[in-house]
Amino acid sequence: MDEPLVTRLRDFGETIFAEMTRLATETDAINLGQGFPDTDGPASLLHDAAQHILGGVNQYPPGPGRPELRAAVAAARAESHGLDYDPATEVYVTVGATAGIAAAVLGLVEPGDEVIVFEPMYDSYPAVIAMAGGVRRPVTLRPTGQAGAARFTFDPQELRAAVGPRTRMILVNSPHNPTGTVFSPEELAVIAEVCREHDLLALTDEVYEHLTFDGVAHVPLATLPGMRERTVAVSSVGKTFSVTGWKTGWVMGPAPLVRAVSTVNQFLTFTANGALQLAVAEALRSEMAWVAAQRDALQAKRDRLSEGLRAAGFEVMRPQGTYFVMADIRPLGFTDGIELARTLPRAAGVAAVPAQVFYDRAEEGRHLVRFAFCKRDEVLDEAVTRLSRLSKG
Ligand SMILES: *Cc1c(COP(=O)(O)O)cnc(C)c1O
Repeated sequence: MDEPLVTRLRDFGETIFAEMTRLATETDAINLGQGFPDTDGPASLLHDAAQHILGGVNQYPPGPGRPELRAAVAAARAESHGLDYDPATEVYVTVGATAGIAAAVLGLVEPGDEVIVFEPMYDSYPAVIAMAGGVRRPVTLRPTGQAGAARFTFDPQELRAAVGPRTRMILVNSPHNPTGTVFSPEELAVIAEVCREHDLLALTDEVYEHLTFDGVAHVPLATLPGMRERTVAVSSVGKTFSVTGWKTGWVMGPAPLVRAVSTVNQFLTFTANGALQLAVAEALRSEMAWVAAQRDALQAKRDRLSEGLRAAGFEVMRPQGTYFVMADIRPLGFTDGIELARTLPRAAGVAAVPAQVFYDRAEEGRHLVRFAFCKRDEVLDEAVTRLSRLSKG
């Protein structure tokens, strides 16, 4: 049979992630490729979810989500950022941030419309833009600053040049996976100015909103002048509470934009797990101290893995947030991240993800690999010990 997959998704066959995970399993390597924590979220959160299931919260929740969770999400946004959203019409619960992003793109982007995305980009963005029949316009984030403290950012001229007559939306992920960049107020001001000037929508992926380091603050794009009315903000519970398998997320925005999301989502998943929604609503009120402690622990893990990678011979960038650190492989004598990632599990017993899969312009990321540091200290230490054998041949 000819390839049955629709043409617009032909570029999205088996991903490098599946290959790396298989390799890691085959070789019994430490998997620093996929970004999930190897410890659980707060005990009260897990306990509450179990109690709600045992207590009978097992049928369809309302399509927009449990009112308890929508109220808790709105209260958290108001308290942290002074943004007021009406829980009844401006907050909508989805199956993880992934479904929220997909529904927003499918509901707001016409075939042929262009979406500006910063690359390296999270792998679901190009796929959902393709599903919508949209066209992605990448703007590349590049490392700036001295070795060891380099941070990825964009050239404002490049962003402005990416806007054309068919541009509909800018997709902004901050804190950014995989670079760890947290956009500064100045960078956000440039993005906001472009949105206002060209009447563009903004879709913000804020799943790492609480995981920022060194006192760097996450600023939602919607807090900038003229942006609340044109921004769909997306977040979720997975990264904040170390429960990536729960797939409970939400979108926030003005009612007409949220209606566009809900129109699509009611036919994608209709609704999301109700018992988990109740548990998350409670945790957003009562477990933010746990999140602060987790953030501090992650910062220490960032430093632990970064130092180890540096000692092993990599040049390491300095992430301001997220679970990930980017490493330049050229000081070790390698030039191609895919080649290295394919040999690393067997040669060193560690799996990582080659960053070039996150780029349209693959050459921009050819020499970079992404390591996840959301793992127990002893796992990170063992990975570093194994990687230090690389430079010794
Ligand atoms: C993990 C991740 C997501 C997915 O979030 P879910 O809530 O699990 O769907 C979305 N965006 C980025 C950048 C991520 O790293």
